[in-house]
Amino acid sequence: MLNFTVGPVQEYENVLKIGGNRTPYFRNASFSKIMLENEEMLKELAYAPADARAVFLTASGTGAMEAAVMNLFTRQDKVLVINGGGFGKRFSEICDVHHIPCQELAVPFEEALSEKMLSQYDGQDFTGLLINMNETSIGKLYNMDLVADFCRRNHLWLVVDAISAFLADPFDMQKWGIDVMITSSQKALAVPPGISMLLLSDRAVKRVNDMQAESFYFNLADALKNGERGQTPFTPAVSILLQIHERLQGLVRIGVEQENRRIAALAANFREGIKNLPFTIAVPSLSNAVTPLMTEGISAHWIFEELEEKYHIWVCPNGGELRDKLFRVGHIGDLTTEDNKYLIEALQEISA
Ligand SMILES: *Cc1c(COP(=O)(O)O)cnc(C)c1O
Repeated sequence: MLNFTVGPVQEYENVLKIGGNRTPYFRNASFSKIMLENEEMLKELAYAPADARAVFLTASGTGAMEAAVMNLFTRQDKVLVINGGGFGKRFSEICDVHHIPCQELAVPFEEALSEKMLSQYDGQDFTGLLINMNETSIGKLYNMDLVADFCRRNHLWLVVDAISAFLADPFDMQKWGIDVMITSSQKALAVPPGISMLLLSDRAVKRVNDMQAESFYFNLADALKNGERGQTPFTPAVSILLQIHERLQGLVRIGVEQENRRIAALAANFREGIKNLPFTIAVPSLSNAVTPLMTEGISAHWIFEELEEKYHIWVCPNGGELRDKLFRVGHIGDLTTEDNKYLIEALQEISA
């Protein structure tokens, strides 16, 4: 199968090989060293401040989203959730479960997040903002300069789910003053699912330590304390962490800009190649990670099925109202322009 989904994505051979090895013991110096290196490399790639800290959670990306919310906010807070789709909605749902007051800024499907939308919430009683940098469900990238500026002038905690944007789109934790950045193993990192990562600013670390969230497993203060010596409170997904180590080393070697450019070029090549096909790019302000395609006179879900059955290609279907209208093509993972060519030819045949 050729995998054009947005996660889990196609892994690289060197990463797959590690997954085939026996799991080593981890409460020792050699695993601690790997974890401390993972923290440093992740910080470097995300342009994190020197005093930021990383947490590696054995959980899917949603686990890290929930951990961030639980460890940073209380019922005394009020957070603004940027909701442009399924992942924005998930942040509101997490707040509801934990009784954290929240309000949604709903971004209409056809529109980019704008200064005008944000400024309506200036000078109110919000204490934090939650955003998914790339709303992966529809492939919309938000303008983080606007968001960063809004949070600075309103003195808000800024939590950014960059799960699908990290490595695909330019990301700068320090420049944007981000307090918590979230990513996950199975997106552009191209490692199997199992580990989600948080980067916390120094002030977020202090906040988390003061708060001591009411959770046993998702207590980030505990994770941070163990992380000081390169350990985790509980058994982590050891093999995934070793695969992450391999990938981070490769990325640090080439530099994050190079990886951004590679993914951007792959996305541009695909978008150019489908120009004459009966699809329209669904939203403004695209992420390099994924192209959302609106179909005309042909069911998007049927295209997903045809590609899977006849061409052995996976793309991402959409659900609900968008089931027959939208499908998404990912550009992250071990993909090439040759792979794009094969997909574009298949799409040509299907839509002929
Ligand atoms: C993939 C993704 C997640 C996490 O999904 P999980 O299935 O929990 O790993 C969260 N937010 C965004 C924006 C994503 O793309």
